Amino acid sequence: MDKEGLEKLPAALFEIGKLIGSDLDPGILLSRIAELICQLIDAKACSVMLLDADRKRLLAKAAYGLRTERMHSLSFKVGEGVAGWVVERGQPALIPDVTQDSRFIALPANQTPISSLLCVPLLARGERVGVVTATAERVNAFNAADLELVRFIAMTIALDIENVRLHRVAVTDPLTGAYNREFLMQRLPQEIEAAIDRDRSLSIAMVDVDHFKAVNDQHGHGTGDVVLAEVARRLRGAIRGGDVLVRYGGEEFLAVLPKADAGRAWEVGERMRQRVCERAFDVGDGLALLLRVSVGIAQWRMGETMPDLIERADIALYEAKDRGRNRVEVAP
Ligand code: GH3
Ligand code: MG
Ligand code: MG
Repeated sequence: MDKEGLEKLPAALFEIGKLIGSDLDPGILLSRIAELICQLIDAKACSVMLLDADRKRLLAKAAYGLRTERMHSLSFKVGEGVAGWVVERGQPALIPDVTQDSRFIALPANQTPISSLLCVPLLARGERVGVVTATAERVNAFNAADLELVRFIAMTIALDIENVRLHRVAVTDPLTGAYNREFLMQRLPQEIEAAIDRDRSLSIAMVDVDHFKAVNDQHGHGTGDVVLAEVARRLRGAIRGGDVLVRYGGEEFLAVLPKADAGRAWEVGERMRQRVCERAFDVGDGLALLLRVSVGIAQWRMGETMPDLIERADIALYEAKDRGRNRVEVAP
C-alpha cells in the first residue's frame, strides 16, 4: 500500500463496516467491497470466490474490474490454481510475478493481463469458506502490508458471508429451495405492514398439485420428490423478483405477491398453472408425466389478519379443486 492507499484506509474501513451493517443484496455488497479493495491497494481487479455446497469447487460470487461473463466463468477446484491452493491450505499467497509461479493457471481467453496476484482465504468460525483475490497488470504491485490489509477485510466479511449463508439455509426448504413456513410467518406480516404504510395492494396465491398422491403411488416417493423440486422451479419461474415462493405443506405452495391486486394475482396464478402443465415432467426410464395444479387467490383486505388471509386463499383453492381442478379461483 502506498501513501495514497494509507490515506484512504480509514474511510474505506468505515465504508466496509457500513456495507456489512446494511441489508444490501450479498452479491452487490461483495462487489462493492471488491471495488474498495482495488482502490486501497491499487489493484486492477478483485474477486470473491466461495466454496460450493460440497466444498469441492470455488465459484466467483462477486468481482470488480472483471466483465460479468468472465466472472461467471471463474471457477477452480480445491487445489487447482492459486485460489485452489489458498483455500486448500488456508494460507495466503503473495505473488510478485505469476509467470514465475507454478501454481498460477492462466485462464483461456484471459483478456485482463495479470502479473501480480494476491490471494487470501476467507475463514468463518475456523472454516474455510472461500478466497479473495486481487490482481494487477504490473509485476511486484503488492507488498506485505497490502496482503495484511486484504486479510483483515476478508476476516471482517467472512463471518457476514457465513451468516448470510446460514440464514438462507435456515429459511429454505432443502428439497425444493422454496422458503419455508417459518420464513412466511416473518415475512407476510412485514408485507401486510408495507401494504398499509404505502397504501398498496397485496395478494397471496395458494397452489396445490392435483392428484399428487398418484405420482408417488405410480413412480415411488423418490421420483415424487424430484418432480416436486421441478414444480417449485416452474412456479418460481412464473413469479416476479419481489415475490416470494413458500413451501406451505407437502405438495402445497404459497406465493406472496406484493403490489398485486386480485386481477394481477389471478394472472400470476394462471401463469403458474400454465408453467406446470405446459411441459411433461421427466420421471426417468423415458417416461414422461403430466401434472396440473389448482390455485386459490386472495387479495388482502384492510384490517385482515395473516391467518384470515391464508384461510381465504385456502377456501379459494378448495373451490378450484371442487370445480374440477387445473384452474385458478379468486376469493370473493
Ligand atoms: P388433490 O390435491 O388433487 O386433491 O390430490 P392429492 O393426491 O394431491 O392430495 P392429497 O393431499 O391426498 O395427497 C398429497 C400427496 O402428496 C400425499 C403425499 O404422500 C404427497 N407428498 C407430500 N409431501 C411430499 C413430499 O415431500 N414428497 C413426496 N414424494 N410426496 C409428498
Ligand atoms: Mg394435492
Ligand atoms: Mg395438498
